[in-house]
Amino acid sequence: MKIWVEQKPYRRRFRQPLRTAHGLWRWRQGILLRCQDDAGRVGFGEAAPLPWFGTETLDQAQQFWRQKAGWLRTEAALLVPDGLPASQFAVGAALSEMTAAPGPAGSVYPLGHEDICGLLPAGGNALETWSGLWTRGHRTFKWKVGVFPVAAELAWLESLIGQLPADCRLRLDANGGLTLQEAEAWLARCDALGIAAGDSIQGSASGGIEYLEQPLPPGQFEAMQRLSHQFETAIALDESVSTRVGRETCDRQNWPGLYVIKPSIGGYPARLKAFLSRVGPRVTFSSAFETVVGRQAVLGLALEHYRQYLPQRPFPALGLGTANYFDDDWDHLTPEALWQTL
Ligand SMILES: [Mg+2]
Repeated sequence: MKIWVEQKPYRRRFRQPLRTAHGLWRWRQGILLRCQDDAGRVGFGEAAPLPWFGTETLDQAQQFWRQKAGWLRTEAALLVPDGLPASQFAVGAALSEMTAAPGPAGSVYPLGHEDICGLLPAGGNALETWSGLWTRGHRTFKWKVGVFPVAAELAWLESLIGQLPADCRLRLDANGGLTLQEAEAWLARCDALGIAAGDSIQGSASGGIEYLEQPLPPGQFEAMQRLSHQFETAIALDESVSTRVGRETCDRQNWPGLYVIKPSIGGYPARLKAFLSRVGPRVTFSSAFETVVGRQAVLGLALEHYRQYLPQRPFPALGLGTANYFDDDWDHLTPEALWQTL
């Protein structure tokens, strides 16, 4: 089999620059891949690097794919080194789409807003924002914490929990920004707010807080492990498990909590699936602000996983609430149409 490989870079502007630990993020840049075999079958893939999560840079991905472009004689010629996990995901997704048996059109699982986690703004603004998302159908919300002084945020948390209807769930994401004392204060307050930590793992929580995400920086694994034994509220790791080495290390050290997985920066999908089958239902999936190409691959992987481990809906809401974040209409395009516009 011979495979024709093409790459096209893309660049999209956020409507509102995103605040990250590394400053303002204004443009999402990445690469689309198109693979076609000599039988004419086509598959798309996307490399959407996030270097601050341990992936290759855009330049490294571009250099790699520029040198691969053209006819390749075997799949083996498309092997991607481990230092380029976003590119590994891209080619894995493209080849599996290319070689998949054609499914019926529209076979994608119909997703509703209740399947997607709605993003609340940091701080007290969350109190004015959740009801709009709730009206749209979201039932799980994510709130960035560790942005304002702890005492203020804990007071807002209490108000927010008081306001949210009983069928709602709240995820608190600290992005590794808390001190140990602050993390303890958060977890103690969450416990006091009457949270049954185990519920969320089965996707059946009747209310309350689903988990506190990445309270401490990745280097403080043991402290987070202690915290998760010490408190009822579940802890999820995100930044700690963004690389393959990171997630396998945490797994080997018997991490008892949840894993937030961003598949599109997680390396080869096949390897990621092997990891996921070890941790079973203790997973939520999250976006890295991909285009429709990466999003479909992420969605396919997430839904395949939940069908296996949590066949009953609702499953934990997907962290893919990134529609309307960009200043373009790409979210309405098919992969083929997006490819044509680039
Ligand atoms: Mg996170």
